[in-house]
Amino acid sequence: MTTQTMKIAVLPGDGIGPEVMAAALELLHVVRAACGGPVLQFDTRDAGAQFYARSGVALPEATVEACRQADAMLFGAMGWPDIRNADGTEIMPQLELRMEFSLYAGVRPIRWFPGVPMVLADERARAIDFVLIREQTEGLFYSRGRGRMVGDSEAYDTMQITRAGTARVSEFAFRLAERRRARRAAAGLHSLVTCVDKANVFLSMAFFRRVFDEVAARHPEIAADHFLVDAMAMTMLKRPWDLDVMVMENMYGDILSDMGAGLIGGLGMAPSGDIGDDHGLFQPVHGSAPDIAGQGRANPCAMFLSAAMMLDWLADRHGEPRLEVGARVIESAVEMALTSGSVVPMEYGGDAGTRAVTEAVIGAVPGALRRLG
Ligand code: NAD
Repeated sequence: MTTQTMKIAVLPGDGIGPEVMAAALELLHVVRAACGGPVLQFDTRDAGAQFYARSGVALPEATVEACRQADAMLFGAMGWPDIRNADGTEIMPQLELRMEFSLYAGVRPIRWFPGVPMVLADERARAIDFVLIREQTEGLFYSRGRGRMVGDSEAYDTMQITRAGTARVSEFAFRLAERRRARRAAAGLHSLVTCVDKANVFLSMAFFRRVFDEVAARHPEIAADHFLVDAMAMTMLKRPWDLDVMVMENMYGDILSDMGAGLIGGLGMAPSGDIGDDHGLFQPVHGSAPDIAGQGRANPCAMFLSAAMMLDWLADRHGEPRLEVGARVIESAVEMALTSGSVVPMEYGGDAGTRAVTEAVIGAVPGALRRLG
């Protein structure tokens, strides 16, 4: 029997991107050796703001093509505050990739990991486990590159909400809630998809809510509700343990997902998947972190957990359970490393930099495998 090979396009990017990516590739090699399953063939490609500064190109066509041919994309971070377009905006090829491959669902799991310092002074915060889904191909980000100045005194950006875009991301949210249902039911929790909008003020947001409601009506087995985005910001702080799946337009998701990361300890613990019907890109929620880049201080756990999301997605698409086992091993190894007490990432005031955290997580892989039976 020939072993299946899966091609992973690897885009380390800028700042701490390459640092956490190197750590994740090392971990993936170890996990694959332990769990078996398809060979992961990594194809590392140039892109990003610093590459743009050197070459004049942010996202080479060869990189886009490698991503198109790959089974999945693994992404570090891109963007650098000093490297900008003529209009003052930043060079951010990840936004082009979202459009190129229709990566419409930005999936941001917000889950507290044992071992990470609690941010909320409430024991119930240990149960934080929700998923924020950000629509990623329209919304206010539609205006990127299309903003309009009137003289030097006014600036306009436009929000785009389409029926097709809202319906497909809402469908995605209900399908995800369906998949989470059994696990939540086992914990005595019901399933719920929350539409986050500003339907009381904007026509575009009232439309978003109306299309969401139409999709919700096709999923009577999952409860649905609505929150205004400002009220959701407060709810995320006051009772985040009640949330399950929420869906929102691009800009609201951009802001609330960083707030979600803050709730579970910081950006170093927040993974994400940018998922479309045919392609998937997996990356930590954080950026290139210029303040700590090049110092070996970055917490690589968000990158590890993004790699686990990639394995889950590939397992699903290819019906390959060993990849799913790999995903669970990574999550378990992160948890075991952080609860061991021997490594506290610098992000939480400890002295463990990228290398020490990586070694601890890799060291926990055999134990994680045993724990999973
Ligand atoms: P950032 O996420 O890079 O950093 C915010 C803060 O969190 C910094 O203090 C940083 O040190 C800390 N931090 C982030 N990740 C960390 C980790 N893994 N371990 C420890 N600490 C971590 O956001 P920023 O400073 O606003 O943006 C920096 C650059 O990154 C900008 O150019 C921005 O455009 C870009 N950016 C890129 C992405 C992406 O690639 N998807 C996302 C956000 C920002």
